[in-house]
Amino acid sequence: MGLAGSVRARRDELAANLRTVRERIAAACAAAGRDPAEVTLVAVTKTFPASDVRLLAGLGVADVGENRDQEAAAKAAECADLPLTWHFVGQLQTNKARSVAGYADVVHSVDRARLVTALSSAAVRAGRTLRCLVQVSLDERPGRGGAAPSEVPELADLIAASDGLELGGVMAVAPLGADPAPAFARLAGVAERLRAAHPSATVISAGMSGDLEQAVACGATHVRIGTALLGGRGAIVR
Ligand SMILES: *Cc1c(COP(=O)(O)O)cnc(C)c1O
Repeated sequence: MGLAGSVRARRDELAANLRTVRERIAAACAAAGRDPAEVTLVAVTKTFPASDVRLLAGLGVADVGENRDQEAAAKAAECADLPLTWHFVGQLQTNKARSVAGYADVVHSVDRARLVTALSSAAVRAGRTLRCLVQVSLDERPGRGGAAPSEVPELADLIAASDGLELGGVMAVAPLGADPAPAFARLAGVAERLRAAHPSATVISAGMSGDLEQAVACGATHVRIGTALLGGRGAIVR
């Protein structure tokens, strides 16, 4: 198969996967009595090349997610001509804030005050506005990122008061090896309390390839889909 043929084959594969994912979102919305237009599909393209981002954009995907700064920065630069919204979804070190502020539109993984401060000065310096989500930890296990639910109000207030930042809402990853439904229900409660204080913070980023249905049932506005769209990542997990 020639180069054009292999590009076409990959495009067809991505198109079929995209159709399946959109059907899953639509079915989950129908079951929950929600409008599918309320749910944004973020294609998580980590470990996949910029050529896949370009094909997805051609298929109508408008939102792309990445979890490592170096890889994301390079891909965003290669795709700078495309009308995409870039989401940073991975754990973020403070010393990467400046780089991330250069290309990301939405940062899903804001989980501590020091990171808020770093992102704020980086955004101001870059002359950009970053939409920030507070990542909420839904399990007791430390190390996977996320603020405890009790820490969310203070972090949210700090984001809302910071130059260059806009408070978007909340994000979470379901606990490993547990039923995601009760965890997503807890997240919905956190999100509701957040909206009481910050009415424009409407985003609930939850749901991945394996649990998007449960997330949509609990009110997710953004689902972050990697494997179901792009295929397996081999040994790399999350
Ligand atoms: C990789 C990743 C995803 C996508 O996971 P899949 O199971 O491949 O859909 C979503 N969210 C975060 C934070 C990720 O790192």
